[in-house]
Amino acid sequence: MKPDSLENLIKRFNSLPGIGKKQAERIAYHIIRNVDSISESLESDLKTIRENITNCNECGNITEEEICDICTSENRERRLIVVETPMDIFKFEESDAIRPYYHVLHGLANISKNINPEDLNIRNLKERALKYKEVIIALSPNLEGIVTANYISHLLKSEGIKVTQLAQGIPLGAALEYVDEITLKSAINNRKEVE
Ligand SMILES: [Zn+2]
Repeated sequence: MKPDSLENLIKRFNSLPGIGKKQAERIAYHIIRNVDSISESLESDLKTIRENITNCNECGNITEEEICDICTSENRERRLIVVETPMDIFKFEESDAIRPYYHVLHGLANISKNINPEDLNIRNLKERALKYKEVIIALSPNLEGIVTANYISHLLKSEGIKVTQLAQGIPLGAALEYVDEITLKSAINNRKEVE
């Protein structure tokens, strides 16, 4: 039998994305062995994040400024990639397929969870999109991603904005964050205009 405090710690890590039961146990044991040094540094990291990290007013990316450094940058292609999370931005930035601007939705429409497209970060999307020569929708090709992509493409195409979508090749249902760099590059290069 594990002590309750240890069980709770394991459960807490297990509830984090991508952490299975075995990994949660390993992390918990590691913390028990190094509790003083870890709690001190973790506390200060979390404090800094709580105080300094915010969402960019323009695109929704995470930043320590009011406007993130991608939005303030002037030497990028005038293309706007619509993504689900800031993690997806890091993914595109790591690959050198394209140097665009981004728009983060912070979620996807989900009928069973009663999340409508209007609940996403889209308040300034149309207004932003008008300033770009192309909007590339790069959402995971699962049901939620498809519903959201349809909504956004209708919204933007009614304004005469050019809308494209990543080429297939990303496994159906896969989250963008698990896609490797080569697949991502080919999905960008073979993107198709939305009919
Ligand atoms: Zn930004």
